[in-house]
Amino acid sequence: VIQVCLPLNTLGLSFRQAREALINAERMSELLRYPPESDPAEALPELHFRGGAVEFSNVDFSYEPGRQILHGVDFRIEPGATVAVVGGSGSGKSTLARLLLHFYDVDGGSVKVDGQDVRSVSHKSLRSMIGVVPQDSALFNNTIAYNIAYGRAGATPADVIEAAKAARIHELIQSLPAQYDTLVGERGVKLSGGERQRIAIARAVLKNPPLLVFDEATSALDTRTERAIQEELDRLAQGRSTLIIAHRLSTIVAADMILVMDHGRIVERGSHGELLRAKGLYAQMWSLQRQQSELDESGSRLTAQP
Ligand code: ADP
Ligand code: MG
Repeated sequence: VIQVCLPLNTLGLSFRQAREALINAERMSELLRYPPESDPAEALPELHFRGGAVEFSNVDFSYEPGRQILHGVDFRIEPGATVAVVGGSGSGKSTLARLLLHFYDVDGGSVKVDGQDVRSVSHKSLRSMIGVVPQDSALFNNTIAYNIAYGRAGATPADVIEAAKAARIHELIQSLPAQYDTLVGERGVKLSGGERQRIAIARAVLKNPPLLVFDEATSALDTRTERAIQEELDRLAQGRSTLIIAHRLSTIVAADMILVMDHGRIVERGSHGELLRAKGLYAQMWSLQRQQSELDESGSRLTAQP
């Protein structure tokens, strides 16, 4: 496998910006090996957007020789449709997002957006079309406003506030010492995983991209905040091609197509209803999560007693 760029979840970082970003040592070392300034893909033609069809055709992939991660993964997201991916930890879900963004080359098959192979277009044009809310977001060592506005040149302070409200992070920001001018990151205010996730959601809301990828985008949030934000994410996904990697199945029952991954293979696919009727892995996961959420709810009722 040829590593084409850093697996930084934050999109479109320039090398300088990425250096300023909060990224872990492993990612940093990868970054230093592949500074985007010397990224040969920038000389390639731009991606032409034609509605946002995504196509994985028989994709084989491994990060390192001898350990294949994806096996013949084949699916399509129709323009404007929502495809959800579920499956156990390590089954290859986030890898799909990394391949769509062309952080890595496939070993077999292809990944295309509107008929154009991601290997044949500039990274800048590809990534500018995709908004990602990652599992764990890196923030720039900069102000909150900068972190939200990043990815959309010319955003006004009013746009930033509107996006922060949609991501349910506006009130928290207002309680900080310098509000939207508060520095975050290493030298600034430390934000929790859930707070960083909401900043990333605000960034995606503001970027308003034609393609969306949510990678367990609400996993670090408490259930109540998750519910509030879920509506916003659903609204955002309306009419745009969306790939949702879900940790909570209740958030994807309305998806046009659900893919169930197991050890790098799609083992089931269909709508929520179809998959329940099939009584397979998805149906098992669904009933487990139902039991778990009933337990959680009775637990919170108990703790709510005076
Ligand atoms: P999921 O998102 O479903 O939990 P991932 O797609 O992140 O799973 O990972 C799939 C498999 O690939 C896992 O076994 C993981 O350990 C491995 N993997 C992920 N990233 C790397 C990497 N950068 N180098 C080597 N192996 C990796
Ligand atoms: Mg993952």
